[in-house]
Amino acid sequence: MSVVGGKPMHCLSFDVEEHFQVSAFWSEARRQQWDKYESRVENNTRKLVELLDQHGTKATFFVLGWVAERYPGLVKALVAHGHEIASHGYGHELITDQTPEMFRADVRRAKRVIEDICGKRVYGYRAPSFSITKGTEWAISILIEEGHLYDSSIFPVLHDRYGMPNATPTIHLLRSEAGRIWEVPPSTANFLGARLPVAGGGYFRLYPYPLLRAMLKRSERSGHPLVMYLHPWELDPDQPKMEGSWLSRFRHYLNLHKTHGRLSSLLDDFRFDTIQTILELNTGTFSNIDTVSPHYEASLARTEMIASCGKPSLP
Ligand SMILES: [Zn+2]
Repeated sequence: MSVVGGKPMHCLSFDVEEHFQVSAFWSEARRQQWDKYESRVENNTRKLVELLDQHGTKATFFVLGWVAERYPGLVKALVAHGHEIASHGYGHELITDQTPEMFRADVRRAKRVIEDICGKRVYGYRAPSFSITKGTEWAISILIEEGHLYDSSIFPVLHDRYGMPNATPTIHLLRSEAGRIWEVPPSTANFLGARLPVAGGGYFRLYPYPLLRAMLKRSERSGHPLVMYLHPWELDPDQPKMEGSWLSRFRHYLNLHKTHGRLSSLLDDFRFDTIQTILELNTGTFSNIDTVSPHYEASLARTEMIASCGKPSLP
């Protein structure tokens, strides 16, 4: 684990999606209404960027392709502030609900949309609701074939909706017939013989902060970087309330008013950077890799052609 200024370096990440796109409230009918709901993702993400700036912290933002298409200025602002842009897929459908062909199309579309906007290659992927589980391991080969160098979709815990409790809980190389990819699992802590999730989301809002901090400090002593995650909507206690099961509403709305303060404490107590930086420091993965997007170069060339030749003629 890399140490800078006496502090171990950890990964901080955010899944950039609207409050109404979460899997817990998913329904096909609601999916058809996405464009009609009040959008809050841009404001919430910009608040988050402000907080990170105050602490001088960089993070990885797994942006949903659907969001990137609607808010390209937000994606460009994240890049301008020095954050890493990664992919959260395009339409936020669980991999468990997709065929390999559907998944490949979703992953490819998201990567292309995001790379076109930010001008950099996208190397990281995180599935909606960590939905690489037993039965969807085939997704790993597709991610490798589509040009991803790391994945952060396997949560090594027991959970009713996701998780692979026996998966390796620290950053490691995964091999498939398509090649190799770094797996960056969200953090867990061993407590009284059980493996508990401590990486973020609902757990971040559920545990009292001193307890969470103690568990994270303990994980830190294991010598592996922590991998934390949150969503912009978790810093928005005023978001409109969605209908859903009691458990989903409990998990989604619990202690939203405390997230901002807790995240601020976390940023004081630990040192974070992007996943790409932590992987580079620990493995050298990105040293010899071209980070400029081929799609971006192509779109720049198109723009230049249009600028020099006037309007392109229709075929
Ligand atoms: Zn998500």
